[in-house]
Amino acid sequence: MKKKLIAGNWKMNGSLTANAQLLQSLLAGVGQPGCQVAVCVPGVYLAQCQALLAGSPIELGAQDVSAQEAGAYTGEVSATMLRDFAVRYAIVGHSERRQYHGESDELVALKAQRALSCGITPIVCVGETLAEREAGQTEAVVKRQLAAVIHTNGHCISEVVVAYEPVWAIGTGKTATPEQAQQVHAVLRAQLKAASPQADRIKLLYGGSMNAANAESLLAQPDIDGGLIGGAALKPQDFLTIIAAAA
Ligand code: PEP
Repeated sequence: MKKKLIAGNWKMNGSLTANAQLLQSLLAGVGQPGCQVAVCVPGVYLAQCQALLAGSPIELGAQDVSAQEAGAYTGEVSATMLRDFAVRYAIVGHSERRQYHGESDELVALKAQRALSCGITPIVCVGETLAEREAGQTEAVVKRQLAAVIHTNGHCISEVVVAYEPVWAIGTGKTATPEQAQQVHAVLRAQLKAASPQADRIKLLYGGSMNAANAESLLAQPDIDGGLIGGAALKPQDFLTIIAAAA
């Protein structure tokens, strides 16, 4: 059975002091986890977190990556630069970037491609808004978002991680029920299967108010291979409980 992946998304939170405390608590409690674990930290703290996590089972992730290789792109951070800090994962297409930075499906697909070309696993986020769900468009939206990534990445699609994150569940305390989440994951799995004979190995994470109390039931679903965790990833005990639930 493939190991599940629990990835924390710290978003724009933290400080040198707070990061050190959080990671020390996680390292003290994580032991030898029965799942893969990562923390996706703000770019300016990659060096700090790389040093603190060295030799530990917790891997390092970034929250975004440029679609460009190098050059005159002020403010961007390239995949090659992330590699310098032993970054293993990069979130791409988080709904907050789609919403606040106008990232299109095509741009997200190019970011995934750039990450893959540098040996970084993109965690590709897809998910519908509340209005789209209420209009019965959930399937169409997530399929459109994933189709762009499949189209651009061809057979490399088996190397990505996909996170289903209903926008209405992110940071709201409203979680998709395990059945709602599984239903969408099954749709995504079928789409990936049609694109790649190796689709079974692709990890499909659920994200959206996953916490210590609901993680077990979500992670028990057949097509949920882990979680992308926002708020609860900043609370060491909660994050450790989620890691234990994924073991
Ligand atoms: C996220 O931002 O990826 C996320 C899932 O956030 P939260 O867990 O806080 O809903």
